[in-house]
Amino acid sequence: MTIHILILGGGAAGILTALKLSAIKSKYGLEVTLVDPKTYFEYTPGIVAVLGTPLDKLEKKYQEITQDYQELLGSWGVNFIQDEVEEVQQSEVILKSQKRLTYTYLIVATGSSYPSPFKPTSTETTYAERLKALKEDRASLESASRVLCVGLGPVGIEMAGELIGTKDLSVIHGSDEVLPGIGGGRLGEKVLSVLKQNDVNLILGEKAEEKSPESFSTVRTFVTDKTRQSVEVEKVYISTGLTPNTKCLEKNFSSFLNKGFVRVNEYFQIPDHSQIFCIGDIIDIGEQKLYFTAHMQAMHLFKNITNLLASQAKGQEPELMPYLGVRLAMVLSIGPSRGIAFIDPVLNVVGFGRGSYIAGAMKWCIERITMHPSTKILVNEVLYFIQKHRSPALKPKDD
Ligand SMILES: Cc1cc2nc3c(=O)[nH]c(=O)nc-3n(C[C@H](O)[C@H](O)[C@H](O)COP(=O)(O)OP(=O)(O)OC[C@H]3O[C@@H](n4cnc5c(N)ncnc54)[C@H](O)[C@@H]3O)c2cc1C
Repeated sequence: MTIHILILGGGAAGILTALKLSAIKSKYGLEVTLVDPKTYFEYTPGIVAVLGTPLDKLEKKYQEITQDYQELLGSWGVNFIQDEVEEVQQSEVILKSQKRLTYTYLIVATGSSYPSPFKPTSTETTYAERLKALKEDRASLESASRVLCVGLGPVGIEMAGELIGTKDLSVIHGSDEVLPGIGGGRLGEKVLSVLKQNDVNLILGEKAEEKSPESFSTVRTFVTDKTRQSVEVEKVYISTGLTPNTKCLEKNFSSFLNKGFVRVNEYFQIPDHSQIFCIGDIIDIGEQKLYFTAHMQAMHLFKNITNLLASQAKGQEPELMPYLGVRLAMVLSIGPSRGIAFIDPVLNVVGFGRGSYIAGAMKWCIERITMHPSTKILVNEVLYFIQKHRSPALKPKDD
């Protein structure tokens, strides 16, 4: 009997899971299908560098971080359906096209949304549409002299890093701290010192609100909530946080949603629904929402699914391994060639001046590895092995 494994979402978690499952397809008689509303895979951590690339070189840069799903998955024997999942049910999902897909096991990896242009919008489902939107964004950046970044999380840091020295830059961040606690606070301190040394108009501990624009004016005005400072710019990037893409679970699994994030058990299953697994940005666990953690969760889920299938084949009860989290590894770019990095527990790479060339090179290497399926699998195998043999980052559950 064929076992249908259906993966919703082809981002960090979904793609790695699909590639891993393809290797055990024939052994266990699997049919693996991935659904995504877009026709292309986009490597999200590479998008800020694309936004920072001059218009005439942008397409080449963007090509480097995208892959066509049909080509990528087809060559690994995974079916691809371009559609959006609207509703998850007990044994099937309903797509926007009203088509229904049944499953034996479901892996929900629908990730998160971020304000444009950081992630594709619902109208950027083809490569051409997305490229056009990115070019338009870049053109508007090139014609702007004053730019505002709202939010100094990892995305805001990278965006501000791209703009330093090229624009009259303002940054408004809702907290006094940046990357709190990461690397003993050294990474955040480094970011602040880079911004200050480069004459960035930095406003910390305040929230920004946009005043209604004057008609026909290209200038946008933002006012801060405490000291009422006014910032006038032609271009703004908002990166104040992510929104989990879990609308498809709202109808039948709302009791497992916490502010939109899915509550899962230590095996990534929705409690009492052992055939439904959720991984990546959508899950409600005490772990940073990162590409790296999404990959490690995919690796762990793959091991558990393999155990499940092997036990089933022998008619035995499956023994699943609890996920105990991974130690943080974070590499952020500050402009095209520099960056900062932290590898828990001890390695801080902050460099001198505008940041470390080593961290910049690490960011580039990670991108190249991620865009090459076989290398991505191999490297994640090694990283998962290392993580598994370190002390757990999350507390084991009592029950
Ligand atoms: C600009 C930016 C830069 C970042 N940089 C870094 C970095 O340098 N390092 C790092 O570790 N992390 C970084 N992150 C975070 C990282 O990208 C995410 O944590 C990671 O991509 C999460 O993976 P995921 O698979 O859960 O979701 P995603 O990668 O968001 O993928 C989700 C997929 O699901 C699809 N989908 C959505 N809804 C549906 C639906 N209803 N039906 C079917 N498919 C659906 C989407 O189209 C998408 O392809 C960055 C994030 C952003 C926004």
